[in-house]
Amino acid sequence: MPLGEFDLIERYFRRASRRRDVLLGVGDDAALLEVPPGRALVAATDTLVEGRHFLPGAPPRSVGHQALAVNLSDLAAMGAEPAWALLSLSLPDADERWLEGFADGFFALADAHGVELVGGDTVRGPLVVTVEILGFVDAARALKRSGARPGDTLHVSGWLGESAAGLATLLREGAGAASDDPLVRRHLFAEPRLALGKALAGIATSAMDVSDGLLGDLRKLCAASGVGATLELDALPLSEALLSRYPPAECENFALHGGDDYELLFTLPADCPGPGEPGAGGLPGLTRIGRITAGSGVRCTRDGIEVAVSGAGYDHFG
Ligand code: ADP
Ligand code: MG
Repeated sequence: MPLGEFDLIERYFRRASRRRDVLLGVGDDAALLEVPPGRALVAATDTLVEGRHFLPGAPPRSVGHQALAVNLSDLAAMGAEPAWALLSLSLPDADERWLEGFADGFFALADAHGVELVGGDTVRGPLVVTVEILGFVDAARALKRSGARPGDTLHVSGWLGESAAGLATLLREGAGAASDDPLVRRHLFAEPRLALGKALAGIATSAMDVSDGLLGDLRKLCAASGVGATLELDALPLSEALLSRYPPAECENFALHGGDDYELLFTLPADCPGPGEPGAGGLPGLTRIGRITAGSGVRCTRDGIEVAVSGAGYDHFG
């Protein structure tokens, strides 16, 4: 007997409340939530469409993880702390094996960051997952794209290009490709940089998450701030896992044009300590990749010499 809508929500998405600021969660017409006094409410939403944002046949656990991760990454980029999520699911059928995996992936990440699912919607249709994330930030310390100033240093967290390389493997070998491959895992289970975002709040002059490829995202940050940037290609953080699998030029392509890294791109005032030194920029796992300039647009350099980078670049996605 197929699972009805009510039973589906009860079985997979209604859990005991775990936050005191949830006055009313899943089950009523709407949720009642208490925002801490003096803090701003931060809201973001992102949708994943099967065949566009994840491959048909992708492991359901990874779809559940990714749907929340992309939203948490937006809050990380604001320097915010996540609290509540809403989940709208459009499902072709009530496939219990799929739902179980999806809910496992979603709640494992939610629990890791203290996020409670407080509502949503469930309909029949093509496989589409929309999450809305809500959280808090001190408005004066929120990280925006618009605060970069000439002279600021430019930094990125983690490794770039691994997720795009993992996607390339999946496109080559199919959705069932070895899930213990570190690049494939990186694509399926990106970790949002919430702790870093919070640490940068009030310190970084601007920030955004890298979701559509470093170069395009940096252009967006520059446009929002009304500045230009110099990007040092030899400084791009490329992991051994990536470099051992692809020639250097292709690794650079993955890093500049590949998507789904979910690292943070941010700027620090010129007098702020850089990565490796004690202080804000001394947080581990950060790489200085350039600097903000007057003017507009992004100049790429190699060994200090300006080089042309084709805008299209890597195009498994085009
Ligand atoms: P309504 O018809 O009033 O919109 P629904 O039947 O859509 O009510 O939803 C009933 C309750 O279940 C609501 O509290 C809603 O927020 C919640 N809900 C529905 N789908 C989901 C889901 N996928 N995840 C979490 N909560 C859900
Ligand atoms: Mg509804």
